[in-house]
Amino acid sequence: MTICPVCASGEWRKRYRIEGWTIEECEACGFAYIDPMPVREDRPGCYSEEKVVDRNTKEKNPLQKLSRFFKRLFSKAANRDKGTIFYNKLCSSLQPGSKVLDIGCGDGSFICKAKGDFVCTGIEISGYLASLAGKRPGIRIIIGDFLETDFKDERYDCVTMISILEHLDDPLAAVKKCFGLLEARGLLLLKTVNYGSFNRSIRGGSWTGFRPPDHVVYFKPSNLELMLKNTGFKKINISAAPFNDNMYCEAFK
Ligand SMILES: [Zn+2]
Repeated sequence: MTICPVCASGEWRKRYRIEGWTIEECEACGFAYIDPMPVREDRPGCYSEEKVVDRNTKEKNPLQKLSRFFKRLFSKAANRDKGTIFYNKLCSSLQPGSKVLDIGCGDGSFICKAKGDFVCTGIEISGYLASLAGKRPGIRIIIGDFLETDFKDERYDCVTMISILEHLDDPLAAVKKCFGLLEARGLLLLKTVNYGSFNRSIRGGSWTGFRPPDHVVYFKPSNLELMLKNTGFKKINISAAPFNDNMYCEAFK
């Protein structure tokens, strides 16, 4: 990247070195990306069955398994698992029957939760994950790269991107496309890793949010808000707890 997609600055500083990658940070707004950026054509291969299964079973040692178990248990107990957070948001913001597009729908678990109340479409780059989603009745799945897909005249009341933005090499093009796909006063809901979290400041290069080559771009609340504003979104609300590795955002067209 030569020009920052958020603020158009061309001044970068090398912030961290992680395995074979450098985290480059915009001097002006703090947006960050990995260098070298993976080739876009290789993306579908990153989510092949072998890679996905390997990632899910790579939960290495018993301590890590236990830690993940408790994390899931507590977030479920507090009603905080991400699917539930997004589903509750849809219910409080949209009329029943509204059209929802879930970008990077994975195996379809989120839209499966929402399909009883909303008309749901999912788009998924991984043929393997899309085939799992396709086995769930009552949802429409498009297989392909969001940026490359022609949605023709389709418009949605809400577009969701749950843990997707950090995977995209052109996040500005992605939010612009979301804006174009939304009806007037439509809603964009997204969750992404928060580069501004205290955890990153404390842990530096070993922060869990850094996951090259999967996570290629990193936002903090201020520059995410700026990019959405520049795209034309109004009424942007970002919630980011200081010690949470993620942030949640809602933005209206
Ligand atoms: Zn910038």
